Amino acid sequence: MNEQEANRSNFIREIIDEHNRSGRFGGRVHTRFPPEPNGYLHIGHAKSICLNFGIAQDYGGLTNLRFDDTNPVKEDTEYVESIKDTIRWLGFDWGEREYYASDYFEVLYQNAVRLIEKGKAYVCDLTPDEVREYRGTLTEPGRESPYRNRSVEENLDLFRRMRAGEFPDGSRTLRAKIDMASPNLNLRDPIMYRILHAEHHRTGNKWCIYPMYDYAHCVSDSVEGITHSICTLEFEDHRPLYDWFLDELELYHPQQIEFARLNLTYTVMSKRKLLQLVQQNYVSGWDDPRMPTLAGMRRRGYTPEAIRKFADVVGVAKNNSVVDMELLEHVLRDDLNLRAKRRMAVLKPLKVVLDNYPADQVEEFEVPDFPQDPQSTTSRKIPFGRELYIEREDFMEVPPPKYFRLALGSEVRLMNAYYITCTKVVKDADGQVIEVHCTYDPETRGGMSADGRKVKGTIHWVSAQRAIEAEVRLYENLFTKKDPYEVEEGQDFLDNLNPRSLEVLTSCKLEPALAQAVIGESYQFMRNGYFCLDSVDTREGQLVFNRTISLVDSWAKMQGTSA
Ligand code: ATP
Ligand code: MG
Repeated sequence: MNEQEANRSNFIREIIDEHNRSGRFGGRVHTRFPPEPNGYLHIGHAKSICLNFGIAQDYGGLTNLRFDDTNPVKEDTEYVESIKDTIRWLGFDWGEREYYASDYFEVLYQNAVRLIEKGKAYVCDLTPDEVREYRGTLTEPGRESPYRNRSVEENLDLFRRMRAGEFPDGSRTLRAKIDMASPNLNLRDPIMYRILHAEHHRTGNKWCIYPMYDYAHCVSDSVEGITHSICTLEFEDHRPLYDWFLDELELYHPQQIEFARLNLTYTVMSKRKLLQLVQQNYVSGWDDPRMPTLAGMRRRGYTPEAIRKFADVVGVAKNNSVVDMELLEHVLRDDLNLRAKRRMAVLKPLKVVLDNYPADQVEEFEVPDFPQDPQSTTSRKIPFGRELYIEREDFMEVPPPKYFRLALGSEVRLMNAYYITCTKVVKDADGQVIEVHCTYDPETRGGMSADGRKVKGTIHWVSAQRAIEAEVRLYENLFTKKDPYEVEEGQDFLDNLNPRSLEVLTSCKLEPALAQAVIGESYQFMRNGYFCLDSVDTREGQLVFNRTISLVDSWAKMQGTSA
């Protein structure tokens, strides 16, 4: 078994294999991904998407996309569109099977009526506060609602009038009649319907009662013929309720299976918290490249392949854990390393003048796009001239020991070009170096010396005359703490926001081939990391690049296998 197969054999597949052996679902595998359209999808959702679609693919089954749109107040079509777009981008296809829980509002209503008729549901007039108070606690049983023993006729009449809009919000609920003494709080007469006079993004004002998640979800799964309803661990205690509804209603019964949700260090994954970051302008939007949303990660330069690989690598487990952000970045680097064309770009430029290079001369070096891959044949031409830019930090007037880059009196290799030696520095009135003068050695063309002379440092550069300009945005983690919720008293997670999560560099100098950069492609700026064009702010005459990730593999370091 190779690594991939090992990761793929998980407890969920074991359950499915067992069902296939026993014939419980006649060999069918039909999963669903059920997002609530109240926010953008994040990397945690990606794990669930890869799992649901991946398992169905492997078993020759199907996956439905089902919007769990039972809460009209928080939901919006903007979210529906972004969710569809993101799942397609991740590489999954739900075919014609795009469903909405709201499509089943009538079916759900009719089944609720059936439960009332069976004496298994009742209309309750307790206020929300009273319902909570009557529910009891983990150590104390609940108390029965005084409305619990209403007659079937009265319940049917009241429920019909709830639907007809006769009662104000919050004045009544429909509750399942199960067991107020159950050790499982979810079984203490859970609410099935609440009154909410709110416009729904799909059903408009047709309904003023809305079903609760636990009731809507199992019935929706059943209507769609789902076989395996895969959800996150916090629903484990809800499974008895899932089963209770379907058993009492004698409906087709899928199997709910829970797995551990994905958590990542240095970020938050709750949609409520992410919405707060957006609404309070801590980020530029749901697709801010620092967000753990898939829209943000896509804009940042993550590839769907890297995300799918990550989902595979973390696997599925039965207990919650936190995955290191460095692992995600490690998987990303591996992926980008293979697909990113190499380019030269100077982010913080310092002018270099080659005093012995003819002023009107320009030569071009033909350099492969993928120098690390001997199979690859594509290349681009890089212009070279008398005036160049190098990184400010690649020069020091007085270098410390073991500084192998450019310094006054020392020689370095300009990547793919020539050896140069620094002879003079020019400073401004404040003593800042604003220009360095060098001589180049014409005998070192291509970056190799004829006499076998070695230099320790190799630095990148860009022709000053032919450089194109761009804005470059560098990112750090959005939060300074591994666990952003770890706060001092009186603080909240916002106090852990990283003030340095975004650094904007203007007038960066890029080699001319980057004028042909396209949105959606990755480029390795040699020594600086992986970059991509920003899909939102780039426009004609204004290039904006995002740094997807630096080249430093901190995961490898953490594993002690320094790459
Ligand atoms: P939140 O509680 O932040 O609103 P949610 O779980 O309610 O998130 P949904 O839109 O309901 O968000 O999620 C759709 C599906 O994605 C569900 O099946 C859910 O279990 C799964 N999911 C959500 N977050 C994660 C996560 N961090 N890891 C794995 N699966 C997740
Ligand atoms: Mg949810």
